[in-house]
Amino acid sequence: MRKGEGKMNKNSDKQKKDQKKKLLLSSIGLLILIVICIVGIILYNQNSDKEENTLAYTDLIKEISYGNVEKVELTTGSKNAKIKFRDEEEEKTALIPDTESFITLIQTKVAEGNEIELIQKPQSFIAQLPSTIFSILPTLIMVALFIMIFKMQGLGEKGKVYDETERKTKVGFDDVAGLEEEKNELIEIVDFLKRPEKYTRMGARVPKGVLLYGKPGTGKTLIAKAIAGEADVPFISMSGSEFIEMFAGLGASRVRKLFEKARKLAPCIVFIDEIDAIGSRRNSNSGAETENNQTLNQLLVEMDGFGSEETIIVLAATNRPEMLDKALLRPGRFDRQITIPNPDLKGRLEILKIHSKDKKLSDDVNLESIAEDTAGFTGAELENILNEAAIVATKSKHDEIENDDIEEAVKKVTVGLEKRERVMSDKDKRLTAYHEAGHAVVSRYLPTQTNVKEVSIIPRGVAGGYTMYKSNEDKYYISKTEMQEKLIALLGGRAAEKLVLDDISTGASNDIEVATKIARDMVTKYGMSDKLGPIDFQGKEPYEIQMFGEDIGDKIGQEVKTLIDTAYNDAIILLNEHRDKLDKIAQTLLQKEKINEQEFNRIFEEV
Ligand code: ADP
Ligand code: MG
Ligand code: ZN
Repeated sequence: MRKGEGKMNKNSDKQKKDQKKKLLLSSIGLLILIVICIVGIILYNQNSDKEENTLAYTDLIKEISYGNVEKVELTTGSKNAKIKFRDEEEEKTALIPDTESFITLIQTKVAEGNEIELIQKPQSFIAQLPSTIFSILPTLIMVALFIMIFKMQGLGEKGKVYDETERKTKVGFDDVAGLEEEKNELIEIVDFLKRPEKYTRMGARVPKGVLLYGKPGTGKTLIAKAIAGEADVPFISMSGSEFIEMFAGLGASRVRKLFEKARKLAPCIVFIDEIDAIGSRRNSNSGAETENNQTLNQLLVEMDGFGSEETIIVLAATNRPEMLDKALLRPGRFDRQITIPNPDLKGRLEILKIHSKDKKLSDDVNLESIAEDTAGFTGAELENILNEAAIVATKSKHDEIENDDIEEAVKKVTVGLEKRERVMSDKDKRLTAYHEAGHAVVSRYLPTQTNVKEVSIIPRGVAGGYTMYKSNEDKYYISKTEMQEKLIALLGGRAAEKLVLDDISTGASNDIEVATKIARDMVTKYGMSDKLGPIDFQGKEPYEIQMFGEDIGDKIGQEVKTLIDTAYNDAIILLNEHRDKLDKIAQTLLQKEKINEQEFNRIFEEV
């Protein structure tokens, strides 16, 4: 703490001057940029006349698969391809979004026996200059200008690098709830930062980089800070997205400066948040990608560069591990990976305890039951719930936060704010009552579905009513049966509308959206369709899917539709069978607006 503050005061006068200078320089830069851009646009427009000669990428793919394309010519570094058709004289151009996968596609086609000639030309500006000088000129000027501005910024920035992020943190492992195994793994790092000689003397290769995987809000930043706090070393942090700059080369230079700083402060911790922003797989050569590559390469150079004498530990966080470039994971780089999971029941309880320490809780608050009701919530969400609860308590003029305030906060965060003022017509009320009763009754007869906790027709958020389920189990895997039954439960609302009112409403739109997504995931992600088998179709280009057959898209659609149709039918059957319960729940809802768990169960125990 102390150390960081002292430094900032000393530098602050100089910083202010630097900042003014920087501001002036960049505003001049901006002015020039605007002028050049206008000129650039005018020149560009004059030259972009032959619109009809360009081919859309999707059309190009179609033409290739029909076998109409004879020759494709690509120039390295350019996204424009020249296309020659079999029976046409004139060549067309097409914009290729991802040249590498396009080349792969053509090579596959050729391997399959299609007659396409692929010509890959190296880049040559000189040869093209006479005809295209006007379209290149603005780009050249702009590139030159970017470099100029970048240099100016570099001048202004001197002496003022990341002071604001360099601080010793007071956070320790005690502030991180749960995650016992993860903390145990990281204690070694703390020890190394405190007593590096102990390790180097033994010739031990100590870790340089640790990658933390986990969803947003699971406490990755918190745990990184806690390591720095425990070791009592400075914590320098930056987010990956901050490295991505539109000025070429700036990302790489930021990485360099970050590590320069780290070397001066060592022993210390460098934390790179959202590392996927710079460290995503190097697979194409578009502009932005090349820029990323430079930044990523610089990061690799820096990490390979410092020896074990320099006690710097690089921690990085991401929620998209599958995106990362493999080079990052090699020994001597981020060779240690720790997954930070969503908290389990015990973890949630501890998080709730930590964050309610400084809040006035009434004796009736049952944190255990709140923890039970919040399976799947992250630490950040739980913290948010307690804050919301404090707000709810204040609004309700309670002296302390009561259990109801917290339950209300959970609903506010999950479903939305209760809107008692919103008036509903009797017709809408009846519709909502049957819709929600439909969900609730259907779920009751589905073995894999959790118990109903509350059914309500008081509007909340954008919902006219809601059915809340108990989440009493932490699950790692979900079975096919469970997903099928989830679909039935989701479509129970729409089914009840159809059955009772013989008309359907827009009220089911969210249910339908969720159900469609689940059904699609079942088929294309989890391989749960017998017809299509365990193949991952998700996020693939159409031509990649066509690899499995020309009509594979249709088949996927049919399978998704079958899942939905079956589930809807099952819901109708269940509701027909238990029509008495459906009516009873809907009637009770119309009378009382809300049914809790006990009342709900009682209705099913009556005969
Ligand atoms: P991430 O970096 O993974 O997105 P953060 O570390 O920024 O998550 O977490 C956000 C906030 O959530 C933290 O500041 C903390 O208040 C709370 N939080 C998350 N996980 C925990 C935990 N395990 N223990 C205590 N608080 C937590
Ligand atoms: Mg974070
Ligand atoms: Zn619904």
